[in-house]
Amino acid sequence: MSSPETFHGWLGHDSTSAAGNLTWSSFSPKPFNPTDIEIKVICCGICGSDIHTLRSGWGATHYPICVGHEIVGHVTRVGSSASSTHKIGDRVGVGAQVLSCLESDCDECSNGQHSYCAKGFVGTYNGQYKDSGYWSMGGYADYVRVPAAFAIKIPDGLKSEDAAPMMCGGITVYAPLVHNGAGPGKTVGIVGLGGLGHFGVLFAKALGCDKVVAISRRRNKEEDARAMGATEYIATSEDDKWATKHSRTIDLIISTVSAPDIPLSGYLRLLKTNGQFIQVGAPEDKLPAIMAFALIAKGCKIGGSQIGSPKEIEEMLKFAAEKGVKPWVQKVPMKQANKAVVEMEQGKARYRFVLENEEAQARL
Ligand code: NAP
Ligand code: ZN
Repeated sequence: MSSPETFHGWLGHDSTSAAGNLTWSSFSPKPFNPTDIEIKVICCGICGSDIHTLRSGWGATHYPICVGHEIVGHVTRVGSSASSTHKIGDRVGVGAQVLSCLESDCDECSNGQHSYCAKGFVGTYNGQYKDSGYWSMGGYADYVRVPAAFAIKIPDGLKSEDAAPMMCGGITVYAPLVHNGAGPGKTVGIVGLGGLGHFGVLFAKALGCDKVVAISRRRNKEEDARAMGATEYIATSEDDKWATKHSRTIDLIISTVSAPDIPLSGYLRLLKTNGQFIQVGAPEDKLPAIMAFALIAKGCKIGGSQIGSPKEIEEMLKFAAEKGVKPWVQKVPMKQANKAVVEMEQGKARYRFVLENEEAQARL
C-alpha cells in the first residue's frame, strides 16, 4: 500500500474551533522516521482534552491543529527500525502520548513511567517533535504517523470502537485504580460520569472492588451507573447533606471532573482514614481552596495521575478483553465531527462519542 503525501483531517484554526468550526482540510504529515509507523484511522474517540485544546483552555494551542488521541487503525507503513514490533495490517491503538525520551538514564522511561518523562514527552497533538520541529497532529483524520513505540496492538477480542476510547479515557482511570490498590476489600468512588468516569466505574467493578460509588451531580445517570456496576450513587447537586451522610465510607476516589468549582471539601469528607483522592480531570482554572484539616484529621492524601505507559495500556487492553469490559460508546460518522464535538461539550455523550471513518472499516 502506498503512503499518501498529504493527510486529511478536521482542523481547528483558532480558539472558536470547538464551537463547530473545524474544517476538513489537507495537511502535511510528520517527516517519516525509521522508528515510525503510519496508520489508516478506523476510528477515534472524542476526549475532554480535545475540547480544552481546541479552545486554548490550557494555554495557547498551536493552530492549525487536528485533535484526537483515542485512535485505532490499521498499520499501512512500517519504518525500517520498527519492523520487529509492527507489520502492515496490524490493528493498533494510539493514546494521548506519541513519544518520550526512551533513554536508559531517564528515571521515568526506565521505570515504566513514560507518561511522566520530563525530557521527551510529545503529546499526540499539539506537541512538538524535537528532531523535526513538527507539531503533532491527531486522529480526527484519515491517517496518522507516529513513533511505533507508542502504538499498541489491539487484542482480537476488542472491537475497534471499544478499544479507541480506552487508549486515553480508559487508561487514565485504569492506571490510578491499579496503582492505588483498587480491588477486593476496597470501596472506590468515581467523581463525574463522563467518558473517563464511566470507565472508572467499569474498571473498578472489573477489578473486584467491594463497592463502587458513582458520584455525579444529578440523579439522571443513576440507572446507567448501576448498569455499569456502581453499587451506590451520590448526586451532589440534588442529595441533601450528601457529604455528611456518606462521610468516611470510601478508600479511594478518582475525580474526573474538569470544572474548577467542584465541592472538593465534600469529596474529601467521603474518604476513610488514610484514604486517597486522585485528580485526573484537568480544569482550566485552579481547584478550590481547602482547609488543611480535611487532610490532616484523617491522614488523607491528594494526588494526580496522567494517562499510562505503553506497557500499562497493553495490560489494560488485555484485562478488558479477558474481563469483557464493554464501554458505552456512540459511533458517529467522521463527517459529523463538528456536531459531535459541540454535543460532547454540552455533556450529551453517553458516554463516549467515537468518530468512525466508514471506508476504513473494511479490512486491508
Ligand atoms: P466528559 O466526558 O465531559 O466528563 C466530564 C464529567 O465531569 C461530566 O460528565 C460531568 O459528570 C462532570 N462535570 C462536568 N461539569 C462539572 C461541574 N461543573 N461540576 C462537577 N462535575 C462536572 O470529559 P472526559 O473526557 O471524561 O474528561 C474529563 C477530564 O479529564 C477533562 O478535563 C480531560 O481533559 C481530563 N483528562 C485527563 C487525563 C489525564 O491524563 N489526567 C487524560 C484524559 C482526560 P456528571 O454529569 O456525572 O456530574
Ligand atoms: Zn484524552
